[in-house]
Amino acid sequence: MILDRFRLDSQVALVTGGTRGIGLAIAKALGEVGARVVISGRSLGKEAEQTLLGVGIDFNFIATDLEDAPAADRLVADVVARRGRLDILVNNAGIAIHGDSADYPDEAWRRIMAVNVDAVFRCCRAALAPMRHQGKGAILNIGSISGIVSNIPQNQVAYNSSKAAVHMMTRSLASEVAAENIRVNAVAPGYIDTDMSRGGIENPDWFPIWRRMTPMGRVGQPEEIAAAAVFLCSDAASYVTGEVLVIDGGYTTR
Ligand code: NDP
Repeated sequence: MILDRFRLDSQVALVTGGTRGIGLAIAKALGEVGARVVISGRSLGKEAEQTLLGVGIDFNFIATDLEDAPAADRLVADVVARRGRLDILVNNAGIAIHGDSADYPDEAWRRIMAVNVDAVFRCCRAALAPMRHQGKGAILNIGSISGIVSNIPQNQVAYNSSKAAVHMMTRSLASEVAAENIRVNAVAPGYIDTDMSRGGIENPDWFPIWRRMTPMGRVGQPEEIAAAAVFLCSDAASYVTGEVLVIDGGYTTR
């Protein structure tokens, strides 16, 4: 049955930044198709607990600030210590700090690169040992259309650069580990309705502008990324690796 190929029964999945937004939707979706889910973030809010427990998903939470390099290095080992294995790694945690380049602070650049790039590599690197040992694994990185096109608002040089790095990291690592049955893919979402897209930007409401610029005429929902995550992490995508799947309502077709 084709639907069986989407099942993740008994597989252990780590979703970084699984406490809110896209990461929480991915954690829920992976759990719904049978995965044993571990989420990480700086703190576990009521939203994640209610969302996951509400649909009967038994999950672990590991508090980790991914700006802290040793903590990022430890995260995968902590998952393996608790759950005994790691089948799926979703590098979802990310931050955006916008600002004009002429006076963009070093500290903001450092933080963006620490969470969006360094921690992604650190978690990938740590995941390779258990995945090699198991003879199989799936890594999914959350990139962005910001790693493909320079979009609105324009003052996102650091964020855009970080996401372009994630895309290339995905393709390079995929090629490096493909023969070991470890697949590495990314999704590049367009505008998705989350805390990140609603906050942290100067203009109080970019949504009407994004809607106008998106051929489908709306922003996306986290569940629309989660559906692709299930596909890419499952055996349904057993011959897909090194792919950066754009999910943007047609934004980058222009
Ligand atoms: P949110 O801001 O809603 O959620 C971000 C998540 O990352 C939270 O779970 C947060 O957990 C975690 N996080 C942030 N900083 C850290 C840190 N220092 N250490 C550990 N965890 C951290 O973002 P989205 O859901 O919108 O974004 C998820 C991913 O999707 C990001 O990589 C983002 O760049 C990408 N993306 C988002 C788009 C959008 O339009 N929303 C478009 C394209 C890509 P906590 O607060 O508990 O630490």
